[in-house]
Amino acid sequence: MWDTHLHTEFSGDSKAKLSDMIDAGKRKGLRGMIFTDHLDWNYPNEPGLFDLDLYGYKDALNVALSDNPDIEIRTGIELGLQQHLSNRHRELLQKVSFDYVIGSVHVVNGRDPYYKDYFEGRSADEAYREYFECLRDNINDFMDFDSLGHLDYVVRYGIKNLGTSMGAMNFWTHRKTIEEILDILIRHGKALEINTGSFQSGLSEPNPAYEIIELYKKMGGELITLGSDAHAPEYVGDGLFEVAGRLKELGFNFQAVYINRIMHEMPL
Ligand SMILES: [Zn+2]
Ligand SMILES: [Zn+2]
Repeated sequence: MWDTHLHTEFSGDSKAKLSDMIDAGKRKGLRGMIFTDHLDWNYPNEPGLFDLDLYGYKDALNVALSDNPDIEIRTGIELGLQQHLSNRHRELLQKVSFDYVIGSVHVVNGRDPYYKDYFEGRSADEAYREYFECLRDNINDFMDFDSLGHLDYVVRYGIKNLGTSMGAMNFWTHRKTIEEILDILIRHGKALEINTGSFQSGLSEPNPAYEIIELYKKMGGELITLGSDAHAPEYVGDGLFEVAGRLKELGFNFQAVYINRIMHEMPL
């Protein structure tokens, strides 16, 4: 099993030491780990919080790679997509190489649903609609990622901020936009990330939820990546083995792992 979504203290919201994360991965019996620290330029709520020290980060990972021959360590990045950043992201990826790039939407028209004010003064449906439409518009504009991070990220914080029943997402209300998103991924050979960080937030399903994963399969989607989104050693690999069982039942045969931006099929 590979955990392909991991954060360290190079991310503005993590204090985890890289070496502690790797030790945790070995204890969990992971075969490989891809670190994907945050780069969210123009993060509105706390400017500069998610500006990544790219070269310090890459150097630290190179050292870790040679210090740990008993587990595969790879260097990725989680790019916070915003449409006005698309050209900057493209230029960055031409200059700096990564094994793996996750494209994630954290900021929706200037606001992160992590914060309660994103949901204030409107229904959950309206808040969710704005997220999915913004995500679709972002990936129509910027495609240079390997896997789409936590497609229904907004639900994680809808439930946290509005409660389990008010925050529950009505899949059918948003199905058309979600279908458009999945269709873009499938047509362009991009993977769908199955992110188990949701379990740390008390959700019972990964992000995205199984209804969305099943729809992706039905539409012909085959490429899935798996990641815990751990920001601390205790969450490394969390939920991945459990989710893998369900994914196999749904007909997925492998997890996609990207090395030098090339897709490899690894056992689930
Ligand atoms: Zn994220
Ligand atoms: Zn993340």
